Amino acid sequence: MPESGIQPGHPRGVDAALRERARLVIPGGMYGHQAAGGLPAGYPQFMRSGRGARIWDADGNEYVDLMCSYGPVILGHQHPAVEEAAQAQAALGDCQNGPGPVMVELAELLVDTVAHADWAMFAKNGTDATTMCCTIARAQTGRRRILVARGAYHGAAPWCTPRPAGTTPEDRANLGYFTFNDLGSARAAAGQAAGDLAGILVSPFRHDAGYDQELVSPEFARGLRGLCDATGAALILDDVRCGFRLHLGSSWEPLGVAPDLSAWSKAVANGHPIAAVLGSDSFRDGAEQIFVTGSFWFSSVPMAAAVATIGALRALDAVTVMERAGTAIRDGILGQAAAWGFDVSYTGPVQMPYLTFAGDRQHALASEFAAQALRRGAFIHPRHNWFVSAATTGDDIALVLAATDGAFAAVRKRLGSLAGHDLSHHS
Ligand SMILES: *Cc1c(COP(=O)(O)O)cnc(C)c1O
Repeated sequence: MPESGIQPGHPRGVDAALRERARLVIPGGMYGHQAAGGLPAGYPQFMRSGRGARIWDADGNEYVDLMCSYGPVILGHQHPAVEEAAQAQAALGDCQNGPGPVMVELAELLVDTVAHADWAMFAKNGTDATTMCCTIARAQTGRRRILVARGAYHGAAPWCTPRPAGTTPEDRANLGYFTFNDLGSARAAAGQAAGDLAGILVSPFRHDAGYDQELVSPEFARGLRGLCDATGAALILDDVRCGFRLHLGSSWEPLGVAPDLSAWSKAVANGHPIAAVLGSDSFRDGAEQIFVTGSFWFSSVPMAAAVATIGALRALDAVTVMERAGTAIRDGILGQAAAWGFDVSYTGPVQMPYLTFAGDRQHALASEFAAQALRRGAFIHPRHNWFVSAATTGDDIALVLAATDGAFAAVRKRLGSLAGHDLSHHS
């Protein structure tokens, strides 16, 4: 195996050749958050393997993984207990004429793990789950309007994709908008919906890509619950990104706020493809009315992986482990930023942090910092929150902090020519 990190200027021959071939047979060469506009400049496109908190790109460069596949990997890559369970199920069968017994086991386990849940349904992606939650809310209430926070990400279907190409205004005609943490704006949007409010869809904290993250105010969460209670609308928690990273249960359990429906996917099976909708009995009727399915929604391997993942998260007290690693990384990076004279914001829960530089509206400094950290072996992102896994060791943290220290030094050096200028004017 190669040494940790890449040498500056290391050629990425394999990656470059794959991109060249992809350009011919994949529209735009790649799409979604992996497209040129989503992947930071200088980052590898193609990844070869992963183990624990380490990953290798197609050229064999090694990194400490602080993106965790953008959320799904929570116990570390190739977690032994999860992969063993997946392989044992695969040896029996995966995609069959009906679900395996493991489906019932997983539903029972989720109902046991997540306080608000009385039932579970399964799908593949987070978008399936958020869309199903809205469909269930509408089926049950007989109403149309769903309120969402302006700028929040809930998936890539026409009703919620951040890029309007190919969508119609009608796709969003039944959405209303509020500002996260602004209860007055949610009340106003609910008032506009009048008798047509089916649900309020909200993420556990504000994690809009490219912006400082904002934890939820308990009054806001409780206020949304009250608004739904008063109107009969469904409170829908989009736990797709945060689920199991903040709390082994719904992410608003520590606040004492129970949603009626919650959407899950990313970390539920440590990288295996599965999504879940969890609901309370008050919305079981709506869930029974709708027709939803998918060719691969009943596959047993990801369900077996999910059972093993939840077992391992419990056994490890994984949330505490991630918090500990995340705190060490945050404290180290904030100390370095101060030492190098940078005014930074390090926001969000420590296991899902995001770093910005003051006044860096175009993410120029963040992009330079991330690229410099990457070439020193820390895989972070300048415009998306990072993810810490429970596999992150003391060695991994030391390597990350060596990389970020080097990155701060490199950005400071690059800014040398701007000495005397106010950093906040740099963009
Ligand atoms: C990723 C994400 C989704 C969509 O999940 P997919 O699996 O990509 O369809 C929805 N909501 C949030 C908060 C997410 O982070």
